[in-house]
Amino acid sequence: MAVLIDGKAISSQIKDELKAYVAEKGLSDKLCLAVVLVGSDPASQVYVNNKKKACEYVGIGSKSFELPETTGEEELLSLIDRLNGDDSITGILVQLPLPLQIREDVVIRRIAPEKDVDGFHPMNVGRLSIGEKGFVSCTPAGVIELLKRSRIPVEGKECVVIGRSNIVGKPMAMLLLRENGTVTVAHSRTKDLREVCKRADIVVVAIGKPKFINREYIKEGATVIDVGIHRMENGKLCGDVDFADVESVAGAITPVPGGVGPMTIAMLMSNCVYS
Ligand code: NAD
Repeated sequence: MAVLIDGKAISSQIKDELKAYVAEKGLSDKLCLAVVLVGSDPASQVYVNNKKKACEYVGIGSKSFELPETTGEEELLSLIDRLNGDDSITGILVQLPLPLQIREDVVIRRIAPEKDVDGFHPMNVGRLSIGEKGFVSCTPAGVIELLKRSRIPVEGKECVVIGRSNIVGKPMAMLLLRENGTVTVAHSRTKDLREVCKRADIVVVAIGKPKFINREYIKEGATVIDVGIHRMENGKLCGDVDFADVESVAGAITPVPGGVGPMTIAMLMSNCVYS
């Protein structure tokens, strides 16, 4: 039976460390995250509320800016300009997805790289690629933290990342490379995904398809990190991995919920505090 990697406990530990650091360094009044939400997508509202609550817990400020669904791109860009120029705002987060009339890439590029706590700006993505210090996308950063705090070494290991999105798959691959893993990125055009996956000591799954990965993809004893998150018809959450099936073959595995999900917010707080 696989060891369960408890993202809930590890994320709480990280938030407690950040809270202590903020108090010790007297950063409470110096740090403030601006959270921008356009429209009223219920899932986005939940994410935004959780981010605000996390700021409160850690002891830093947050300001929310809620704009109607019909907001134009120029209007959003001028809000970002204002936040970029406001010294009391140290981090800016624009909740994605945005309504169709607004181009996400244009918005992401407008956020000042030194306030881009999501780590999506091309400047920060570039810094990650060349090994310079900068903000790193929170979900893949959370996966690295899960591995480190669970004492699962990456150096020299075969790592397979399934998915090549800009916010998860690609930065995940760069981070595993930075930890000296031997990294393969698999995606929708990969031939024989099962064979590629089966050679991995560490598999990070970010496909966006519920319970896609079963035991046939997993080498005995491998570490399986499930980034996926889906709501099933019965209202419960599941990941991209068929947990019940994979659990008996993996060496360690993250559950959904309670695995990677809570780590994303913890790493966002880490980006805000160490900005
Ligand atoms: P995405 O849709 O942008 O990317 C999915 C990737 O999977 C693509 O690169 C695609 O090539 C690959 N893929 C699709 N079908 C495949 C197949 N059959 N075989 C191999 N590869 C395939 O998704 P994303 O934004 O990277 O998110 C992935 C999952 O992670 C989603 O379920 C999302 O909800 C979840 N997610 C969770 C968090 C969190 O905080 N836990 C954060 C971001 C995303």
